[in-house]
Amino acid sequence: MPKIFITRPIPEAGLKILHDKGYEVVVNEAALERAATQEEMIAVLQQAQGEGKPFDALLSVLTDQITVEVIDAGLPTLKVIANYAVGFDNVDVGAAKQKGVMVTNTPGVLTDTVAEHTFALVLSIAHRIAEADRFSRADKYKAWGPELLLGTDVSGKTLGVLGLGRIGSRVAYHAVKGFGMKVLYYDPKQNPDFEKEYGAVYVSNVDELLPQCDFVSIHVPLLDSTRHFINEERFKKMKPSAYLINTSRGPIVDEKALAAALKNGVIRGAAIDVFEYEPEITPELKKLENIILTPHIASATRETRNKMAELAATNIIEALEGRTPPNLIK
Ligand code: NAD
Repeated sequence: MPKIFITRPIPEAGLKILHDKGYEVVVNEAALERAATQEEMIAVLQQAQGEGKPFDALLSVLTDQITVEVIDAGLPTLKVIANYAVGFDNVDVGAAKQKGVMVTNTPGVLTDTVAEHTFALVLSIAHRIAEADRFSRADKYKAWGPELLLGTDVSGKTLGVLGLGRIGSRVAYHAVKGFGMKVLYYDPKQNPDFEKEYGAVYVSNVDELLPQCDFVSIHVPLLDSTRHFINEERFKKMKPSAYLINTSRGPIVDEKALAAALKNGVIRGAAIDVFEYEPEITPELKKLENIILTPHIASATRETRNKMAELAATNIIEALEGRTPPNLIK
């Protein structure tokens, strides 16, 4: 029977699918509240090889660095790496392909949830929700005031979407339909259908988009070309009244430059779910009132995490049964 290594505990919904198939499933229970280390993953994979009961599949999560060394430790039996995330910047896909190992991800099932979280951040930073909560808990609320904790309206403002893919286009949909916002977007691929339906405007140069936006939301994948995509120069191109939202991947924003931009009033605020050196957060950011920090939870609803677990399990089964998995990364 196929044997599956799951690097961290995942929802039961996914485990059930694998158990129902009769697969042998080994869950790295030790990594419940921490990331699995490379040494740990390599040791488990190699030990199984040594015992003559090697693994056929690896179910990884985004905190795992699936390097060529980890892949090698699973060979020659490892056939598929099912990443429990839509992003797959944590997997050396090139090395996996070269060694004949399939890599899959979990797109689509988390789109609505991440778009909701993104919009929660837009509204929360504009209306200073987290700051107001801290203020209230600190017993600072002495009297209603005409100028107490003034925020910024979202309705009717301009949202810049960087990366109009599944999540970016859903965020744009909420912006247009829910808040009458104007949407500008930047993406290597233009989407005339979306433009027609939602009145979105394509801007082929990001440096021309930034000065026009009240909110900028990042939805591009982390690639070599998108690392520090938003840097000191680009913060300067944004309006001083603008807000940056990032629910994509931390290294897309130069976090030091972000802290400086927030501190020096280059932009008004930011709300981010992802960090450049996760789980570390640049200390300066934690001292600022004009930023909301959430710990990479944009897809963290019970419903969505169950669906991600089911999809990762399905990808494994399809791969091991000799079919093309639905979410094969090509
Ligand atoms: P997607 O592939 O549907 O969309 C990505 C879009 O970015 C595509 O339209 C693509 O053309 C565009 N793009 C690629 N390179 C670009 C560039 N250099 N400049 C501008 N646009 C570029 O992916 P998705 O499902 O929308 O997910 C987007 C990203 O969100 C993922 O890669 C992942 O890193 C991140 N994500 C984060 C969380 C979280 O928990 N915070 C959850 C899910 C996804």
